[in-house]
Amino acid sequence: MPQQLERAKAVAGPSSRAAAPQVGLLSPRHIVFMLPLILLHLGCGLVVLVGVSMPALAIFFCSSAIRVFGITTGYHRLLAHRSFKTSRTFQFILALCGVLAGQNGPLWWVGHHRQHHRYSDREGDAHSPRRGFFWSHMGWLFSPECVPVRHRLVVDLARFAELVWLQRYSYVVNLGHTLMLYAGGEAWRVLDPTAGASGFQFLVWGLILSTVWAYHGIWSANSVCHRFGFRRHATRDDSRNNILVALWIFGDGWHHNHHYCPQSARHGFRWWEIDFNFVILVLLSRLGVVWDLRLPPKAAPI
Ligand SMILES: [Zn+2]
Ligand SMILES: [Zn+2]
Repeated sequence: MPQQLERAKAVAGPSSRAAAPQVGLLSPRHIVFMLPLILLHLGCGLVVLVGVSMPALAIFFCSSAIRVFGITTGYHRLLAHRSFKTSRTFQFILALCGVLAGQNGPLWWVGHHRQHHRYSDREGDAHSPRRGFFWSHMGWLFSPECVPVRHRLVVDLARFAELVWLQRYSYVVNLGHTLMLYAGGEAWRVLDPTAGASGFQFLVWGLILSTVWAYHGIWSANSVCHRFGFRRHATRDDSRNNILVALWIFGDGWHHNHHYCPQSARHGFRWWEIDFNFVILVLLSRLGVVWDLRLPPKAAPI
């Protein structure tokens, strides 16, 4: 474990802002980073070949929910902001769900997100819409600067060997999940031929479409929620609360509230600001799975 910390410090360099350009434009590492994004978007067209079935739709909704929940509650509220506490086992399960979203390993995601909070909409923010709406939504993901892990900002996560493993071998997890989806679809085809399901259909709906759906929901927090919506707090960034994004990604669209109070496990401050993630966290806290949910200060103008 100490070696991991030392390695993290060594890779980080003198400043988190200077830690970026380590990967060459169109170098093999840069291409491998971009390729899944491109292929998954192109792959959406395969839906016309595989058609749809009720099992495929069910797989799509379940997979999408797991991916959105894994990123917004696992990567974001737990690992990036420590807005609640849980056991190491449940932390791993949440991080595993985040890995299934195909948005890189937990250390990569959290490092870039913490950088965003440090420099929101100022120089150093990797995905501010001030550099263009498309850039903030997904354009920045094609820049070689965003490929490296910001190790300096995730030293706390590097203490967990299982999170470092997920970071290094996220492709193994996703490959295993892909094979399971295919096997599940083929099993369904054999056991219930009238349903019209197949392995390839499950891959298209449960992997490709579901991942792209979750991609654009999560990315909207960086783009839409820094451009469209309402503000009520005097934050120094352009963050906005957007109800459509909030419904899409289980409450993380109350992004302006979140920038105002990043450590809060609750993003929807008012009763009508539906925050599905927070409802789940409250239920899990009743079961003793999570605890010490952090809330906005009582004096906050919410
Ligand atoms: Zn933001
Ligand atoms: Zn955040």
